[in-house]
Amino acid sequence: MFVDQATIRIKAGNGGDGAVSFHREKYVAAGGPDGGDGGTGGNVVFVVDDGMSSLIDFRYKRKFVAENGENGRGKRCSGKSAPDLVIKVPRGTLIREKETGRIMADMSDDEPHILAHGGRGGKGNQHFATSTRQIPRFAKPGFPGEAFEISMELKLLADVGLVGFPNVGKSTLISVVSAAKPKIANYHFTTLTPVLGVVRVDAERSFVMADIPGLIEGASEGVGLGHEFLRHVERCRLILHVLDVSGVEGRDPIEDFEKINRELANFSEALACCPQIIAANKSDMATEEQITRLREYIEGKGLPFFTISAATTAGTAELMDAVCEKLAELPPVKVYEAQPVSQEDWIRKVSNRQEFEVEVEDGVYYVYAVWLEPIMRTVNMEDYSSLQYFQRVLRSSGIIDKLEEMGIEEGDTVNIFGFEFDFIR
Ligand code: GDP
Ligand code: MG
Repeated sequence: MFVDQATIRIKAGNGGDGAVSFHREKYVAAGGPDGGDGGTGGNVVFVVDDGMSSLIDFRYKRKFVAENGENGRGKRCSGKSAPDLVIKVPRGTLIREKETGRIMADMSDDEPHILAHGGRGGKGNQHFATSTRQIPRFAKPGFPGEAFEISMELKLLADVGLVGFPNVGKSTLISVVSAAKPKIANYHFTTLTPVLGVVRVDAERSFVMADIPGLIEGASEGVGLGHEFLRHVERCRLILHVLDVSGVEGRDPIEDFEKINRELANFSEALACCPQIIAANKSDMATEEQITRLREYIEGKGLPFFTISAATTAGTAELMDAVCEKLAELPPVKVYEAQPVSQEDWIRKVSNRQEFEVEVEDGVYYVYAVWLEPIMRTVNMEDYSSLQYFQRVLRSSGIIDKLEEMGIEEGDTVNIFGFEFDFIR
């Protein structure tokens, strides 16, 4: 079975806790605080593995948790940071956050993508000695690692997608123009998993062609096979639409052509707009009249038309040449941009989780809230709208109310994770 969709949970490691410890030495009465910091939790990192061709592994293992950072220790020893947890996926896997649907990564390149960041370690008490508080008996806990439920979808990366009714000869065609060896048989749905083939036209030119399971009528409504596989054509730059011009199965190639195009259009606008080249296959079994009728119809629509026989390879070299020439004019394979968390989503998440702590120390208001950390990372304090967003977060989470309750005055200093700013009402 071909698995090209999966939903899993990932969680980065938590940061280790800071330590509370005091320097001890013989003959030294009261040593200073020397509690070390916690280590950083492991990230969850995704990489492409070209040895993988489906998401089947994720049907069985669905939870991936990176290790936590070590706690800090005495003598200013920091805890060790945890290693990254590396998850391998096939090339072309599109990863979305389940909750919001936003794209987190398109695993099409060779870069590692960190999808869940490990939590930072908490500070040890060595950092908390002040002139008025020489014996800090506290340290900070580590921050939790990010956690997401993600949905993965494999969208093959191919320049050319073969589409057409079952049995028109798609698999035969890819097997004669590339080294791919798909199953070929005279019954429907022999192709159950997409097959990629590299077509080498000459020394300089080559492209990737995908043979996907045959489309059938109603595929875009989820009837039978086909619908599930249309996503694999979505990234293609060009559709090679294969028709059986001989009508040996008792179907009319013109009707087939229109039906398939309706299926594509029903699935997505992008597919409807994708450029097409039409290959009239099984010409060895067709009459001149059959070929002329189809040619006139297709060319009447302004589409390029090629007569071939995949079985005898007649016309396939010319067809591949034309495909190559057309590809040279087309934009590269579609790659999806990762989408940041929208401000609305943050605000929604934040208003669900209002735990925070405020401490006053020498007139400075320290705000501790683990969920604020990733927000702090993305807010640009120089940018007005970004700052306004940050203000909204502080307000909707109740932090501003709390500060006011504690008697904060205009102009007092607020400290969030080391970032200090003046309180303005
Ligand atoms: P697919 O379902 O579109 O992948 O079709 P296949 O490639 O599996 O081919 C279906 C049947 O048509 C097989 O029996 C092939 O041998 C046959 N076939 C494919 N191309 C040609 C051709 O050009 N001429 C003839 N006569 N038969 C062909
Ligand atoms: Mg096939």
